Formats: sequence, structure tokens, C-alpha cells
Amino acid sequence: MPSPVYFLDIRSRQGAESNLDRMNNLFDASGMNERINKGDLTAIKVHFGEPGNDSFLGPVWVRRVVERVRAAGANPFLTDTNVIYLGGRCNAVNHLNTAISHGFAYSVVGAPIVIADGLKSQDWVFVPVKGRHFSDVKIASGIAQADSMLVLSHFKGHSITGFGGAIKNLGMGCAPISGKTEQHSIRPILYPERCISCGLCAEVCPRSAISFDGGPAQIDIESCAGCLDCYRICPERAMDINWTEEIRPFVERMVEYACGALSEKKDNVGFLNFLIRVCPDCDCNSWSDAPIVGDIGVLASADPVAIDQASYDLVIAESGIEGTCLKRNLAPGKDKFKGLWKHTDGLHQVEYAEEMGLGSRKYRLIRV
Ligand code: SF4
Ligand code: SF4
Repeated sequence: MPSPVYFLDIRSRQGAESNLDRMNNLFDASGMNERINKGDLTAIKVHFGEPGNDSFLGPVWVRRVVERVRAAGANPFLTDTNVIYLGGRCNAVNHLNTAISHGFAYSVVGAPIVIADGLKSQDWVFVPVKGRHFSDVKIASGIAQADSMLVLSHFKGHSITGFGGAIKNLGMGCAPISGKTEQHSIRPILYPERCISCGLCAEVCPRSAISFDGGPAQIDIESCAGCLDCYRICPERAMDINWTEEIRPFVERMVEYACGALSEKKDNVGFLNFLIRVCPDCDCNSWSDAPIVGDIGVLASADPVAIDQASYDLVIAESGIEGTCLKRNLAPGKDKFKGLWKHTDGLHQVEYAEEMGLGSRKYRLIRV
């Protein structure tokens, strides 16, 4: 049975309803209200964007969702979890400052922010799962204890998982730092002959796992958290990853975490994917590259697998934008994500999520 996915395209014109007002139609048609009960503490899972990033989902969209949750008699709060790397979201204080500086103040969005894993990412609970890699996962307390949840995802490319949407927002986004580390576990390898000992990798390493002894960098694999910041920053491409062996299990671990985040409230969670500013990489980056396709619209569904599959298909159906970092697969129907990141296959996310019972890849797209 295909899962319904509701689609609001981004077209608008003078005299017509604004796209923000049309969000009400999307909310009603997709039955988002039915996921929420009167009196609920309703988590609105967002990504506040790393400082320097400007492509994260903006607060004007989030405010519309807050208003609808409040109108349903529930108590909305915005939430996200702390991240592994040092920066603007590595503890609750930095995270709140970043969120507010990106426009997520109460006066704008109409709801308080709760960083779901607490001040130093110590607030989490074990949730059992039956996966290939885990028998239990760590889910941030503020998300595990919420009565209902709406997951708002900026749909875009991702250098490791191929794309980021609802499944990634659940799996990585609802985990405390120790849970994120457990999922990553991707270790860099070093080509010492290419290393110029510039030290940049050691500067960004959140675990002080890189040292020098008068020669090329040395990685202490036991201390390494697998965040890959060293790999991304290396100007000489002296760091690499065993792409074929490491990425598929990483994606599977993330999917198992997504199952844990939904545990015990699957009927009380709804998903909204925003196919707006579809950039090549994650909002965790401290920059945003140009979008690779034009804006498409907003999707809503009760099924995280169906909504990600539909989002993926809608992006692929578009023409790629010339002059962006998308150099291959620009024609409509060609896979834009494989055009960006040929070492990874984003579809493994939805395949394994379907296998884990998270939802269905078969969907029915219903225009609102
Ligand atoms: S960033 Fe690259 S080149 Fe510089 S020290 Fe690290 S591995 Fe070597
Ligand atoms: S060695 Fe690299 S991958 Fe490991 S924790 Fe440090 S920066 Fe992250």
C-alpha cells in the first residue's frame, strides 16, 4: 500500500495566497493535526544551522508550524541536539546563542527552545531496537519524553549519506553526542607522503586525536570519533576514507537510530520536508554553497521513508543548475545526488529504512 505524500509546490503569484498561508492547506490535507493531541508537549525538530551557514530552514516557515500546533491545543517547543565537533552547537549554551542569532527567538517563532540532550549532551535514554548493528540506541531525553513530534527537514545533498532529509534528521538529529559518535565510527586513513604537516587537521579535531612527531600527521584511532573534520579540511587530500567499506554500515547505524527516535510514538510523529535551497551539503557546515536545482516546494507525510523517497525523486526530475558544484547528471531524470557525491548512494538510506520497518518506499504524491 503506497504511503500518501502531500506536495505543495513553491509557485505563487500576486493576489494569490502566499506560500506561508498555503502551508495551512498542506497541514490540513496531510492530517498533521491528527498526529498531535490536546495538551501534548510537541517537539518541533529543526536544525538551527551552524554559524556561517545560511541555507538552514528559516524561522518564518517554522513559525507557521508552531502556530498550527498551538491551534491544536498542544504545547510546541523547538528542539535539536548538540554536535560532535567544536563550534556553535557543541553545548546547549552555544546552541541557544546560535539559534537565536539565526532568528529562532521566541518573539519570532512563538515557541521556546529546548536543547533535547541538555547542557553537555548528558541527557539521553537507551531505547531498544532490533538492528544489524545495535540492540539499543541513545535518544536525547527531550525527544524521547515528548508526547508528539513534527520533524521539519531541509532536504539537500550530503557528502556521506548522499542526501539529508527526514531519516537523517531523526537518526543523527535526535541522538546525543555519544550516539552521534557511535553512528559515525568512520575512521580516516592518512597518506603520509602527501602530508605537509600543516597542522590544520589537528586544529579541528574535537578529540585531540592527531599529533606530530617531526613528520607527517599521526592519527590515534582509539581516540578518533569518526567525525571526518580532518578529512574535510586537509588541503593536500592526505586524508581519505575507505568509502566502499565504511559508508553503508554508517548509513545503517543512522537508520537504526531513526527507528529508536520514533519508538513508542510512531503514530504521533509527522514529517515536513522543505525542498527549498537544495544545496550540495549539510547545514552543519559553516558555509552554504549554491543550490543545485531550483526551489521545488514542501512535502508532508506520516511516513519518513516515503517522504524522503518522494523528495529524492522530485529533485532528480529537475534540471541541474549550471555553474554550481553539480558538474555531472544535470539533465532532468539524472541522479543529482550521485552527480554530486559519486562515492555514496543515498538510496541505501531508504532501502534499509524500509527493511527496518520505518516506512515504505512506495508513495502516492498528492498535490495540495
Ligand atoms: S591537514 Fe592534511 S596536510 Fe595538513 S597536517 Fe593534516 S593531513 Fe597533513
Ligand atoms: S582524527 Fe579526524 S575523524 Fe577522528 S576525531 Fe579527529 S578530526 Fe574527527
